[in-house]
Amino acid sequence: MKHYAIIVAAGSGNRMNADIPKQFMLLASKPILMHTIQRFFEADPFVEIIVVVSKNEIDSWKKTCEQFSFTIPHLMQEGGETRFHSVKKGLNAVNKKSIVAIHDGARPFVNKTLINRCFMEAEKHGNAVPAIPVNESMRRVEGDHSEPADRSAYVLIQTPQCFDSEILKDAYDTDHKNIFTDDASVVEFHGETIHLISGERENIKITYPHDLIIAESILKKYFPEK
Ligand code: C5P
Repeated sequence: MKHYAIIVAAGSGNRMNADIPKQFMLLASKPILMHTIQRFFEADPFVEIIVVVSKNEIDSWKKTCEQFSFTIPHLMQEGGETRFHSVKKGLNAVNKKSIVAIHDGARPFVNKTLINRCFMEAEKHGNAVPAIPVNESMRRVEGDHSEPADRSAYVLIQTPQCFDSEILKDAYDTDHKNIFTDDASVVEFHGETIHLISGERENIKITYPHDLIIAESILKKYFPEK
């Protein structure tokens, strides 16, 4: 079946405290978003890649691609107010029955195995959402009070999240709600059961300045040729 990858990169990345959004910051002298796009192309050279960036970044992204001689083909779509709106805009470019992967532009270490496993599992189950166990102790907080929480009852959710295109489009044909923190929450609200698969520890979302230090090490260890 046909595969699409919608890579959302229209966030402002406020938590990074930098002048430019995190997805455009350099990692080993290349914008983070280029590493991310490259991961999908390496996993499947026939995947149709849709990159969502904010309206005022479209021209500068095209120039950056020229400057870095970055030739991996990708369609561009204008982002929206929240991640939900950005995904919705990306979905406008999905016009064939397919499996659609939705991935955060700021997760450049997703590997081939996870991408292909995610597509395959979604083909079988209608969706596939990667998760990893929680490795810290947790407490539930309510006002000034806190109490221990059973961490084995929780998982941390990653992207790519893969879906049957028809289910995904129907699910996104709704208004934004605050409970929509990712694509799984939108599809679940639509009435589907979410199929969790194992994520990968190194598939981090670059969010805070110290993540860039960790990112350099992950790149050297797992993607040494890049
Ligand atoms: O803010 P957060 O790190 O959760 O964002 C996850 C992903 O969603 C990022 O890759 C970010 O660029 C993207 N995003 C987007 N449009 C928005 C907000 C976030 O594409 N309005």
